[in-house]
Amino acid sequence: MTQAAAETLSSKLKTIIRDVPDFPKKGIVFKDITPLLADQAAFAGMVKHFAGQFSKAGITKVLGIEARGFLLAAPIAMELGAGLIPVRKKGKLPYKTVAASYALEYGTDTLEMHADAVKPGEKVLIVDDVLATGGTAGAVCSLVEKLGGEVTGIAMLIELEFLNGRAKLAGRPIYSLIKY
Ligand code: AMP
Repeated sequence: MTQAAAETLSSKLKTIIRDVPDFPKKGIVFKDITPLLADQAAFAGMVKHFAGQFSKAGITKVLGIEARGFLLAAPIAMELGAGLIPVRKKGKLPYKTVAASYALEYGTDTLEMHADAVKPGEKVLIVDDVLATGGTAGAVCSLVEKLGGEVTGIAMLIELEFLNGRAKLAGRPIYSLIKY
């Protein structure tokens, strides 16, 4: 897809994504992607766009971050002909896990992935809806790399550029479609 076509798609999706002020707390403008998921043409167009960006990258696993990341990662994985890996909050996955903690505004949170989810040398695409401060994606990169996988791409539907999340993901290729 050309840069101009990506910009057209981004502008279209911006009209569909809903801003919810003061959710989950005062001062946060929540980017609600549920209207996009409910719009068949928009959702399918978005999935095809992301798969197109990475179709020649040799991706064998697409990793979705709980919970909205699952909804985007699964169809992108199908489109790429790759497997799907769920990364979940602590205590949800049944088998042996690897864990990574990251800082929140107050305290820390922990994400887990199954210890056999990524094979050494495997090319992994990380998918989530929003790149904000980058803490979440940074922790997920460390999980992939702990198992010897390669973060071949980080695909974010939305990037909140003013939060400079890229700084926490240095060295990994990041692609975001919609920027605010
Ligand atoms: P961060 O670790 O700060 O990059 O935050 C990323 C996670 O928080 C992602 O999983 C997002 O889904 C969620 N998130 C952060 N900010 C927003 C926002 N303004 N709207 C919707 N989701 C958000």
